[in-house]
Amino acid sequence: MNKEILKNINVLYVEDEQDVREFTSKTISTIVNKVIVAENGKEGLERFKENPEINLILTDINMPKMGGLEMCAEIRKFNDEVPIVITSAHSDPDFLKKAIDVKVSAYAMKPIDLYHLIESMIKAVEPIFLRKELEEVNSNLEHKVEEAVRRTKLILDAQDNMVVLTDLNKAIEVNKKFLEYFDVNSLDEFFNKKTSIISQCKTGNGFFSFNSVEDTTTWIQKIVKLNEIDRVVKIENSKGEDRVFIVNIDDYEHKGEHYVVSFTDITELKEKSNLLEYQATHDQLTGLFNRQKFNEIFLKEIKRDKRYDNALSIIIFDIDDFKIFNDSFGHNVGDEVLKIISEIVLKSVREHDTIVRWGGEEFLVLLPQTEIEGAIHVAEKIRSTIESYESIDIPRKITASFGVTKLQKDDDENSVIKKADEALYMAKEKGKNVVVSN
Ligand code: GH3
Ligand code: MG
Ligand code: MG
Repeated sequence: MNKEILKNINVLYVEDEQDVREFTSKTISTIVNKVIVAENGKEGLERFKENPEINLILTDINMPKMGGLEMCAEIRKFNDEVPIVITSAHSDPDFLKKAIDVKVSAYAMKPIDLYHLIESMIKAVEPIFLRKELEEVNSNLEHKVEEAVRRTKLILDAQDNMVVLTDLNKAIEVNKKFLEYFDVNSLDEFFNKKTSIISQCKTGNGFFSFNSVEDTTTWIQKIVKLNEIDRVVKIENSKGEDRVFIVNIDDYEHKGEHYVVSFTDITELKEKSNLLEYQATHDQLTGLFNRQKFNEIFLKEIKRDKRYDNALSIIIFDIDDFKIFNDSFGHNVGDEVLKIISEIVLKSVREHDTIVRWGGEEFLVLLPQTEIEGAIHVAEKIRSTIESYESIDIPRKITASFGVTKLQKDDDENSVIKKADEALYMAKEKGKNVVVSN
């Protein structure tokens, strides 16, 4: 018998016989928390109303003023829960029916056997006790889960990166950085806005687009399939500004069910690397390709030419008497001339042609799919445009000499340049401001 569960119980004990009342209440007060006594049902009802802490009723049946069952019926009108133990010798059917009506939990036969009485009391309060215990366990568990969720959110929110927890079909949880980036308060709001998560995603040389809303449900599957090095995405934020992110995907359980996807903002880094790449491949003054970039393009074009027998022609030209020009008008004016000439060449060639600042005042144009006649024609166009160029900023007429050649079967990158150079030399020999082909 587990008497322990009675120790916090407050009992209302209603008994009209003074001897029994005094003896019984004295005994049970040693095992329960508190005993409140009443001499009859009427008084019992009053005590119950006055003492909301009562959580067990122990009552006799036959009493003056109001019987035990009548009292219980009154109590049941406003309290459906409190367990009731009857102390009685009654067993007639009318009594039993009434006892059922007031939901009596247990009986202790009179004359009172203390052992039996305590057993009945335990039986009556046990369900309540168990329910309370269960509620406590549940609430502890809930509290622990809430705390764990709160801590996880704290960790996620402390991240500088945008973080998404996903099952590959949809985002399950996102962090504060993510919500801030798209200027929403919740994931639901994000989806309601139909924001396209990924505007562009890099593959190989460029970015490919994820523009439609349908695409956003599968974007992560597409990213998973990419090589790690290509997991670079461009995402538009709420201000319409594009930023570039490296995407890292972690299947931390190794079950393929949940993935933690983090987006590291590399916009500034990317801009810097773009700038560095630009500086490494372009001439600072004119913005044309430099020799290093030319070598890269040239070797590719030669390979293509050898395979498909494309006509690949080259123009090299050099400004005439530029030393004298510089000496007469200054280096700054000379620089202006170099820029003007770059503009003229850009306007004179096709998109697929490559223009290079070859040396100080020397330029080279690579013309794929162009026969020598076509290249001569282009060179002539540039020559005459330079010759007829007039501006108040340029104090003297400028001219240039041109060497033109076409890549032949037995040529390599050195021999073809040499041929173009020789043609240019001949043009200078011929008195400058002419086009010579070789
Ligand atoms: P030629 O007709 O035989 O080509 O004579 P040139 O004077 O043009 O040739 P030369 O090779 O003797 O001199 C080239 C000059 O080009 C020397 C230099 O002053 C000028 N030059 C080279 N690079 C630059 C540059 O970046 N800016 C300016 N302003 N001048 C440059
Ligand atoms: Mg020169
Ligand atoms: Mg020159």
